[in-house]
Amino acid sequence: MGKSSKLLWLTLVLLLVFPYEAMAYKVVVDPGHGGSDPGAIGVNGLKEKTVNLDISLKLRDELRKKGIQVVMTRSDDRYLALADRVEFTNAQKADILVSVHANSNPSSSPGGSQVLYYDSAYPQASYPASPEMEALTPYSKQLAQKVLNSVLKQTGLKDQGLVPSAVYVVRKGTIPSVLVETAFLSNSKEAAMLADSAFRQKMAKAIADGIAEFQPPVFADTSVHWAKDAILRMKNKGWMEGIGNLFEPNRALTRAEFVTVMDRVFHLDGLTADGPDNEVPVFSDLKSNHWSYTVMSKAVRLGLLNGYEDHTVRPNQPITRGEVAAVFQRLRQMTGVPTQTPPSGSFVFNDVPASAWYAPAVFTLKKSGIIDGVTNTEFKPNRYISRAEIAAMMDRYAANQP
Ligand SMILES: [Zn+2]
Repeated sequence: MGKSSKLLWLTLVLLLVFPYEAMAYKVVVDPGHGGSDPGAIGVNGLKEKTVNLDISLKLRDELRKKGIQVVMTRSDDRYLALADRVEFTNAQKADILVSVHANSNPSSSPGGSQVLYYDSAYPQASYPASPEMEALTPYSKQLAQKVLNSVLKQTGLKDQGLVPSAVYVVRKGTIPSVLVETAFLSNSKEAAMLADSAFRQKMAKAIADGIAEFQPPVFADTSVHWAKDAILRMKNKGWMEGIGNLFEPNRALTRAEFVTVMDRVFHLDGLTADGPDNEVPVFSDLKSNHWSYTVMSKAVRLGLLNGYEDHTVRPNQPITRGEVAAVFQRLRQMTGVPTQTPPSGSFVFNDVPASAWYAPAVFTLKKSGIIDGVTNTEFKPNRYISRAEIAAMMDRYAANQP
């Protein structure tokens, strides 16, 4: 086979083997305790840290079989502080955290499984949660319920229920998080089960099945964001994309990213410039292998963006709110929505004089309910626009469309 047909075959095979790879569901598995911290000691002498690690490693393998990505906070017998576990988790850009523990009670009679999660309806003043975790309560609770249901069904253990909890690992992170208390080491029957490799395997499979039923939020960094609903609608419409499982809502939108969104909405290929099409000159910072070369060239041809005197077109430069308004309204005009002339003086926004080059665009878009100020009286035309602000603007535009 030639090199390119080999590549094609490899791609097809990978698509068959990892059909869900594009979803990139990523789980952090956290085996509780470890190293100098044994956790609970079973009535049979079994150490909790050992059981937790073995179930967690089996859980990792079960999740991978389902095409879910897994990272472990520890995969051997070592001590890890709670804060380090959470800090590690926050850096993984993962979708959920599952911490695996075994329970213990001064009395030998309690038995069964329970799942802990943080619940904003039961706050504890001395143990504050992260703002993300507060907002993620419905997600964490749903994940906890799915895991518990699966464990009860597959192991036959007693239902010890969902437990709203302020334990550190489910309280301080930024993604839906649960802590599974698999069974009681203080209960002789369950301690014997936990010592059995086949039972650990059954437990791991049950937890994995529960996780697989859970639908994590699409973007891990927008769950508490003011624009989260607009961002989701824009993603579902195919107008905006994330970067992996992040949306980076507060990052400034670049010129190339903006014209990419405009191309998806207005289909630049089908448009003709207001005047004659511009020739697209060679820009020193827009080589033909730049990801945005095609769409940036279209934008320049239509006169939406201009190059700079130093022969650059700066695809990676943030775009300002005034520029966004001007380009966006020009595109609307090309598709039949006339631009209106603002009344003399300033209007609505104190920082947009009617004489400014972007004022007719801001005026027209504001009248159509598509654009908003930063405050009621300020538009901040020279400020960079965030990716969240663009999502909100495009969402209002979409809602206005017949
Ligand atoms: Zn524990």
